[in-house]
Amino acid sequence: MRFALAGNPNSGKTTLFNLLTGSTAHVGNWPGVTVDRKEGTYRNKGVKASDACERIDIVDLPGIYSLSPYTPEEVVARNYILDEMGDGPDLIINIVDATNLERNLYLTTQIMESDIPVVVALNMTDVLHRNGAKIDERALSERLGVPVVAISALHAEGIGELMNRACEVAKKGRKGSSVIEDSPMAEAFGRIVDLFREKGLSHPVFRAVKAIEGDILYTGDNADVARRIEEIKHNIALRPELEGDFEAAVADARYRYITEHYKSAITRPSGKSGRSTSEKIDSVLTNKVLGLPIFFLFMFLVFHLTFAEPLMFTDRFVEDGIPSPGVLLQTWMGNFTDAVTEATAGLLESMGASDWATGLIIDGLFAGVGGVLSFLPQILMLFLFLSIMEDTGYMARAAFLMDRPLRRFGISGKAFLPLLMGFGCSVPAMMGTRTLDDEKERRLTIMLMPFFSCGAKLPIWSMFAAAIFPNNADKAVFAIYFIGIAAAIGAAIVLRGTILKGAASVFIMELPAYHWPKLRNVAANLWEKARGFIVRATTIIAGATIVIWFLSNFDFSFSMVDPNSQESIVGVLGSALVPIFRPLGFASMPDAWKAVVAIVTGLIAKEMVVSTLGVLYNPEVEGDALEDDAAAGALAAALVASFSPAAALSFMTFNLLSVPCMAAVATANAEMRSGKWLWITIGFWLLTAWVGAFIVYHATRLMGF
Ligand code: GDP
Ligand code: MG
Repeated sequence: MRFALAGNPNSGKTTLFNLLTGSTAHVGNWPGVTVDRKEGTYRNKGVKASDACERIDIVDLPGIYSLSPYTPEEVVARNYILDEMGDGPDLIINIVDATNLERNLYLTTQIMESDIPVVVALNMTDVLHRNGAKIDERALSERLGVPVVAISALHAEGIGELMNRACEVAKKGRKGSSVIEDSPMAEAFGRIVDLFREKGLSHPVFRAVKAIEGDILYTGDNADVARRIEEIKHNIALRPELEGDFEAAVADARYRYITEHYKSAITRPSGKSGRSTSEKIDSVLTNKVLGLPIFFLFMFLVFHLTFAEPLMFTDRFVEDGIPSPGVLLQTWMGNFTDAVTEATAGLLESMGASDWATGLIIDGLFAGVGGVLSFLPQILMLFLFLSIMEDTGYMARAAFLMDRPLRRFGISGKAFLPLLMGFGCSVPAMMGTRTLDDEKERRLTIMLMPFFSCGAKLPIWSMFAAAIFPNNADKAVFAIYFIGIAAAIGAAIVLRGTILKGAASVFIMELPAYHWPKLRNVAANLWEKARGFIVRATTIIAGATIVIWFLSNFDFSFSMVDPNSQESIVGVLGSALVPIFRPLGFASMPDAWKAVVAIVTGLIAKEMVVSTLGVLYNPEVEGDALEDDAAAGALAAALVASFSPAAALSFMTFNLLSVPCMAAVATANAEMRSGKWLWITIGFWLLTAWVGAFIVYHATRLMGF
């Protein structure tokens, strides 16, 4: 016996296939096309070895919505079902997603038209039951004229019964039937079926429907048959209800049949009484109109609490306003690192350390690493909010909400989930794209990943927002995240229209019930972030910062120059690259090369942008200047002197969109498994960064900054 699994994408075919075949599955290609062909064996232990159903070959057909000949998947599936290749199935298990019955039955009405026995496996019934809905399988089975068995592939429920029913039906055989028999085309249809029967063609009902639809494949090669079909169609074509469009009329007949017959087979939970708390919350939070505005409001609140100085609500009541908790914590952390710096400087002086050593430790290491570390509280603050949103189940809703607006640009909610993870770190997020089946969608998602600003970029936003936009710090950071999403949409349009042509995959997700965030989960998450950040800052970032300090204090002949002068090694190298960045607003900056060097070191790791700026803009701090709580203030002043608001936004945008870090490049390489695509991706990131920064710079200038 040989059974084929047919169904819509995401109906659970692969899950059922794996369940049935276990370890026997093997994957090849369909003859002539590179569409997956999966085969395996199901052993039925409940029957005698002599029974035909003891051993069943299972073939997983590609996911399809119809049996028309428009995509390679559809062609493969229908050729196989109609046995064009001589190895056709004895039965089709039509797997149907019960939570999406109406859409899924469209394919069922077509499969029923073949002469192959069919069983409908009503999958995902666990979800249905949890939602309190019920489907009357018996009623549905009567209406469709084929057996219907409720299963849950995920929980391995109903599988035994499904296979037993399938075996019974497979042994009996079956004649195709069509919903067209109930339509205005019934008479013409019947005559074409008779014609095909006369000629001894297989699957006469299926072929007759295709002939009516004008699908030439099934009018046969016989010129006489083709002429008679045209005659029959011509006779009914003038009927007003058809309007001459047969294909539309057939589709219409299918939908009419489905709505008529499935509505009474399904009982949804009645009214309000059965609604759970989660459903009540969702009626607001995932509301068609309110859902997205609420999501953006939440996000803005998060940025406001983390970055605003002063808080929006307080400045009216308190003279100077109260800084947000994030800013407050950051100030304390800054004071702390300053105090440590000061103490160390004092210690070095009392030990009689050379200027050289003092410079390296104080102006290099402490200015660079201390600068990065002082942003730790704000990073934790942001991740505190994000992990609460995730733990309560709200993030899953966010993916669901974003699915609709992003779908038209070729990004599905399924891809949006790893992209959301990208707000934490691109590396695990890129690995998360393994949940996507479609290779193009995976590539697209990996390529869009940097645009979802990761944690390591936060110090850059925080530093610039505080220095350049002190009164609108929260809005500046929010704007950066927004620019990232806009860039992702723009890039998706371009990529989907060129090298990654294709549509977003179907997104079906079970929304978890809301629950209160678990302190353990949130704390563990934060601890992980904090530890990772501190370890990176004190190892890789510290090491690289020392290198930058050397390169900015020595020239090519390795003699010491004035700290951070253009004669230094990075000064010369950075200046050489400045012309590339001139159109991005770097031309008017007094020390444009410093920004360029920060951008380049940022390609290694994004924290390096802040530590490099910390070193390069670190003013010559004399021993006593430190006492004026100088470092942070002096750095901010240096930034204000160098970056116009437009140039600052352009600089931030470039860092947002360009190559995220070396770890992300290595991950992209591992996940794409193609040197060619890795280079395309790197080139794409650099190009988008340049173009994005260009647009942002000129747009902000036009808007009057
Ligand atoms: P395919 O595209 O038809 O091969 O579908 P998959 O087998 O990949 O399943 C799509 C998604 O539905 C996966 O996330 C499965 O875990 C999930 N899924 C499949 N069957 C069930 C089921 O019976 N119940 C639930 N809750 N989820 C299921
Ligand atoms: Mg699959």
